[in-house]
Amino acid sequence: NRDSCRVLVTGGAGFIGSNFVQYWCDRHPEDRIVVLDALTYAGNLANLQPVKDRPQFRFVQGDIGDRPLIDQLLAEESIDTVAHFAAESHVDRSILGPGAFVQTNVVGTFTLLEAFRQHYPTLSDEKGLFLHVSTDEVYGSLGPSDRAFQETTPYAPNSPYSASKAGSDHLVRAYYHTYNLPTIITNCSNNYGPYQFPEKLIPLMTINTLIGKNLPVYGDGQNIRDWLYVIDHCSALDAVIHKGKPGETYNVGGNNEVKNIDLVTILCDLMDELAPQLPVRPCRNLITFVKDRLGHDRRYAIDSTKIQTELGWQPSVTVEEGLRQTLKWYLDRQDWWQPLLSQEYQDYYRQVYEG
Ligand code: NAD
Repeated sequence: NRDSCRVLVTGGAGFIGSNFVQYWCDRHPEDRIVVLDALTYAGNLANLQPVKDRPQFRFVQGDIGDRPLIDQLLAEESIDTVAHFAAESHVDRSILGPGAFVQTNVVGTFTLLEAFRQHYPTLSDEKGLFLHVSTDEVYGSLGPSDRAFQETTPYAPNSPYSASKAGSDHLVRAYYHTYNLPTIITNCSNNYGPYQFPEKLIPLMTINTLIGKNLPVYGDGQNIRDWLYVIDHCSALDAVIHKGKPGETYNVGGNNEVKNIDLVTILCDLMDELAPQLPVRPCRNLITFVKDRLGHDRRYAIDSTKIQTELGWQPSVTVEEGLRQTLKWYLDRQDWWQPLLSQEYQDYYRQVYEG
């Protein structure tokens, strides 16, 4: 019975994890939420500011690969639900340095699974869930007229990031079949919304319009992605935690396929409308095509019929509405993003976009 949960949220100081923690504390004030996060470059305690004083909430800084720490947390907090977000999550960084992706995404997930396998028998009947939050990128790239990814689509990852996520998905699946551990995998499309680190497409373009920098679009800009507002992802995970079936996989998407160049153009027009003072207007003048990403997948599209029909989940906002809210958030929260444009970030940026 998952009426009330004691949840370990790994990666809860990152983008989706912190939105999930805020969402969960608001919706389920009776639940315990313990965040474990290593606070890598992508983790940020400011993301948890809104919940940090809630009695139900605790933050622990640490690595998912630290087995003694995980064992201790699972036991002392009587954790029954693991919501596993912690990962190296950026494709461009995985091309520059794949090692950390294998370490955290594969070995780290393995360590968590082992710890949960040992802890699981201490839980009362009907309790226990290991929710593994993954990506649609594990399915590879689609042609223009191919069917959208279904839960049965074979895995064909093309980047070190997606390959490492695929590896972790396979381990999670195997722990259900081999050890009967109650695991569920969700594969979600591109998220956007508040608290997303500046390196990702939407915050990158938004912040660049605010500081008058070029908007670097890879290749011919015709790559297609499906976009989901992060709060809709959180509500999907809520449905999965409360109603999902162990051993299953659920695809989560927004049914919003957009070409990168179209997305950037919509974003530019919205910024022209929303931001009173911009260094360069119209923002479209900042669009610059740059050398394509290595191995750049052409198209992702996701079929979320299963979660919609079996668990009754629906996305709540359109891309236009979600984008508008997101851009307003970045306009209001310069105090949040300005400190993230560090020297390390500038060095990374030059390497990726300026060769
Ligand atoms: P993010 O990079 O914003 O956050 C990752 C968090 O994990 C950070 O807080 C970081 O400090 C933490 N972390 C990294 N390595 C760790 C380690 N070894 N131990 C403990 N904590 C560690 O990522 P995100 O965009 O919030 O993505 C969260 C999860 O959702 C990831 O598993 C990602 O693969 C998946 N996902 C993301 C998207 C997307 O569009 N962003 C889409 C589908 C799935």
